[in-house]
Amino acid sequence: MNILNKSSRRLNPEFQVRFTGQNLRQWMTLFAASVRETEPRLNELDATLGDGDHGANLRTGMDAVVEKLDGLALADVAGQMRVIATTLTTAVGGASGPLYGAFFLQSSHGALHKPDLGLGDLTSAMEAGYRGVVQLGRAAVGDKTMVDPLAAAVRSLRASCMHYQALPEAVRACRKAAQLAAEGTLPMIARKGLAAEVGEAGIGVMDPGALSVALLFESLAQAVSSLTPTAHSQAQSPIFF
Ligand code: ADP
Ligand code: MG
Repeated sequence: MNILNKSSRRLNPEFQVRFTGQNLRQWMTLFAASVRETEPRLNELDATLGDGDHGANLRTGMDAVVEKLDGLALADVAGQMRVIATTLTTAVGGASGPLYGAFFLQSSHGALHKPDLGLGDLTSAMEAGYRGVVQLGRAAVGDKTMVDPLAAAVRSLRASCMHYQALPEAVRACRKAAQLAAEGTLPMIARKGLAAEVGEAGIGVMDPGALSVALLFESLAQAVSSLTPTAHSQAQSPIFF
């Protein structure tokens, strides 16, 4: 339970933060940079568990997303999420493109008709995105896929809502939850995608899609915290895998 009472919450700038279309663009720019930087690692993990292209696939997709958003008048969150969804679905070869596409498409439905999002709205949008991924890929938690950190992230966001946390605080917690869940795929045996064919030989290797989702939420935390006064006082440790 958040110990701040109502009036001190109103005075705390973290409680004023809402997720805007501008935040979404910043999120995508940061994620694209992170994917570019981590591309070799993502490819390397996918070379062990699949066909070695996850980093390249996602880099192509996120470069296309950034280019697309750059050429677009700043729109509402839902409109931009739809553009992100179609771009990822069409630009990324491989399973992860349609899956990331489903995430942003369903998230966009969750964010519909809202100029900006409070924590409850953002959580509902991310939950809708999560359901979209599960509906398309039919993976469950524990199957060693991107669903593992995604499930952990939305669970964490929902818990933060229940505890009346501020949006940046909630996003920081969800980043951590996604990171831990991605690390949690190491000992698992994959049951979905190309990795399922590798079987026990994949034990000890992190799922590349799980790592990219952890990076997605790390970028979200950076995008949100950069708009608050805590951005400079709270050094964010990068994810090391
Ligand atoms: P491909 O496997 O077609 O080469 P990528 O290499 O881009 O596609 O993405 C692989 C990642 O996609 C995996 O690491 C896993 O996280 C995710 N993935 C694959 N199949 C599924 C599925 N059915 N449900 C959820 N995620 C999946
Ligand atoms: Mg692959």
